[in-house]
Amino acid sequence: MNTITLRPGRERPVQHYHPWIFSGAIATVDGSPGQGDVVDVYATTGAWLARGMWSSVSQIKVRLFTWNADEALDVGLLRHRLERAIAGRARLPEARSIAETETAASNACRLVYAESDSLPGLIVDRYGAYLVIQLLTQGMAVRADHIIDLLHDLTGAHGIYERSDTETCEQEALPIAEGLRQGEIPPLITLREPGFRHCSTPRPDLQFMVNVCMGQKTGFYLDQAANRARVAAYCVDRDVLDCFCYSGGFAVHAAQAGARRVTLIDSSTTALAQAQEHWIVNNINIPIELVAGDVFKLLRQYRAEGRLFEVIILDPPKFAHKQVQVERALRGYKDINMLAMQLLSPGGVLATFSCSGRVPAELFQKVVFGAGIDARRDVQILERLTQAPDHPVLLSFPEGEYLKGLICRVW
Ligand code: SAH
Repeated sequence: MNTITLRPGRERPVQHYHPWIFSGAIATVDGSPGQGDVVDVYATTGAWLARGMWSSVSQIKVRLFTWNADEALDVGLLRHRLERAIAGRARLPEARSIAETETAASNACRLVYAESDSLPGLIVDRYGAYLVIQLLTQGMAVRADHIIDLLHDLTGAHGIYERSDTETCEQEALPIAEGLRQGEIPPLITLREPGFRHCSTPRPDLQFMVNVCMGQKTGFYLDQAANRARVAAYCVDRDVLDCFCYSGGFAVHAAQAGARRVTLIDSSTTALAQAQEHWIVNNINIPIELVAGDVFKLLRQYRAEGRLFEVIILDPPKFAHKQVQVERALRGYKDINMLAMQLLSPGGVLATFSCSGRVPAELFQKVVFGAGIDARRDVQILERLTQAPDHPVLLSFPEGEYLKGLICRVW
């Protein structure tokens, strides 16, 4: 059996069920654990603490999966954890189990959110009858076959496609793994999100065409699902600017809610083409302006031109991938938020987001505060937003919280 012993004083997070052990916390390794092998974790006193999966190269050497000495990492445990994760989603208001796919307002959701579902390194997103998986740690990668069989068994998915192409794979020295793992290749999926409800006659559900094999992330930004509806409620009869629009998630919701016109900016022309298609499939007939380019530059250009908007959405990609990038990320957030505030007519609404986990909500608010000072505008927070409930945050793992948003009134 492979075992590790922690340095004196480093057992507290483990005792508090935090699932990560960093290399600096380890005093000795007994045995020679290979990629993803099970290791037992001991305190300096010799007391058994927990059991986890070994990562040979990552700074996070062990991902813990149990604090119960009798529990083994076998198929039974994986099945139990997967069942629990899936059952939790089936009870959410907007996400239903596979069996109800055809009737639920939304047919996509994150079924498994890694550490937050006590399955470190495993992400599973459901798009209709298909699953997209990411195996982001050595522990999960070596158990891929079991996980895929279990997922097929538990969901009856028509196809399971792997998209383990994130930066985490690099840190784990895992090859980028993409491709069909089970069943049939997912076709272009018609994803549904609930239509606008804040009006006397609720609007039809919205449709988005998602290519899960090629699209960004696992194809769509499921984490923003609830926020798209929230922000849309501020767009009725307004002139809206959707920055970093991707395939137009926020813009389409805003348009259906009754925006007067919508301008969309993204650096990806593929994403803009998809946004245009979403205008058509959702029968939206208000004016749309699609702009390919860099948000930082375009907002400056609009300021020089004296253009004004009534609602601006800022949903940039992750700016800080590593701790050393945080300072730069903060400057980036401040810059776009200041520019957006300057482009809002008095009383306009700014919906601003950050998906960098390394920038906590409090710090993000400070940055937006700084942007308000520089823009010389009074800014009120109307709403605080976070990731959708199918991306839950386990209290013992606050790192699972990454998306934060503020809806602000800018005077
Ligand atoms: N709001 C979207 C998700 C945005 S993801 C939704 O709800 O679906 C971030 C997007 O920003 C990506 O589509 C990416 O192509 C785009 N992007 C990244 N850097 C950019 C930049 N500097 N200027 C414009 N777009 C950028």
